[in-house]
Amino acid sequence: MIESHGHEAYAVGGCVRDCILGKTPNDWDITTSARPKEIKAYFNRTIDTGIEHGTVTVRMRGESFEVTTYRIDGDYEDGRHPKEVTFTGKLSDDLLRRDFTVNAMAYHPVKGLVDIFGGYDDLNGKVIRAVGDPTARFTEDALRMLRAIRFAAKLDFTIEEATYDAVRKMSANLAKISRERIQAEIVKLLLSDHPERMRDVYRTGLSASFFPEWDALFATPQHSVHHCFDVGEHTIAVLCALPPERILRLAGVFHDIAKPLTRRTDAKGRDHFVGHPQLGAQMTKDILRRMKFDNATIDTVSALVKYHDERPAPTKRNMRRLAARIGSDRMEALFTLKEADIVGQSDHEREEKLQSVKKMREEYLSVVSEGEAVRISDLAINGKDLLDAGIPQGREIGEILKLLLKKVVDTPEENNRTYLLEQAWLYHELKR
Ligand code: ATP
Ligand code: MG
Repeated sequence: MIESHGHEAYAVGGCVRDCILGKTPNDWDITTSARPKEIKAYFNRTIDTGIEHGTVTVRMRGESFEVTTYRIDGDYEDGRHPKEVTFTGKLSDDLLRRDFTVNAMAYHPVKGLVDIFGGYDDLNGKVIRAVGDPTARFTEDALRMLRAIRFAAKLDFTIEEATYDAVRKMSANLAKISRERIQAEIVKLLLSDHPERMRDVYRTGLSASFFPEWDALFATPQHSVHHCFDVGEHTIAVLCALPPERILRLAGVFHDIAKPLTRRTDAKGRDHFVGHPQLGAQMTKDILRRMKFDNATIDTVSALVKYHDERPAPTKRNMRRLAARIGSDRMEALFTLKEADIVGQSDHEREEKLQSVKKMREEYLSVVSEGEAVRISDLAINGKDLLDAGIPQGREIGEILKLLLKKVVDTPEENNRTYLLEQAWLYHELKR
């Protein structure tokens, strides 16, 4: 289509890399000599995704293609944005601005692969290597340093020595990058098959600029029968034991975030971390907010941190109580986090610990299957019933429902209309 108008077009970047690796690409990026307004004229359905940078999304057969004009990035004055972008007629100019050799290949169904920087060999050698001089490239855009680790994690590659050294040397420049862009790379790294590469974020010095609390974990030993690692290495082990889900891996990162601040060594030389889940939940909120995460993520992750170390006897009543506090839709994540936490500890009493979480899960499943109330909405009455019964509109309604839930969580057989309405009136009378 583009070529019938006398222009060139190539698949480029991640999709070429993924195809060579035999993986299905996430998305298709097309690079072309045509200008955005020409692309818009050639296709029926287009979206101006980043028109000032030359990107138009073309919708075709239910798929999206990001079509970007060959471009040279102008001078980077601030370590994150080019001052201006210039369109060019040369594919090689466009490849030159890309971050890593494995991301800087283009493919054309007839003309074949265009690989100027040895990306194909680096794919085979499993190497992440900057295009050109790494120090210069990281000076242009400091985010590339974090991307190097993210791609190494995603592809299970090593980072070529000069590239890695440049990351270490330039790591402080990451401070110039917006929290949103950093967040996106960190989440991708965490969701990869190699979350242990979070260790490199610390070792290269990158986290010092946006997440110093992470670094502190690696400087915090744990002298205890339950542990065989410092807090940082324990956290890495927990991450590796967790399934690749966003909430869980984030909860893994943060579950012991307050240990450095709560560590106390007793007379026998053993370390204790009293209160670390509560303080950790608060720190998690602050840090996730600073990293520009959304409120739903902040709430769930901090709740998991807060309850990760609770060890109630595995009874149905305790499980109802726990569910009423943390939220029933978070129980499965909590159990999974607890199991990973145990796997990341020493093998002291490991089987017993795992057995106890297993029992908790079983008890909770039976709470669910028997339909026992763990949420306000599970109660046999609702706010409207209270209004109809003559309790006045206002915050008292919510308070009464909470009190009723507390009762019913302890004694599920009391979850019936007549009894709850009676109790509601009692509370109401008592308050007056
Ligand atoms: P993914 O499969 O994770 O999306 P990707 O390679 O498509 O991987 P993107 O972040 O979507 O990664 O970027 C698409 C392409 O744009 C990259 O392959 C690379 O060629 C180029 N690119 C993206 N960000 C940068 C950057 N900060 N500096 C230089 N080139 C970049
Ligand atoms: Mg992509």
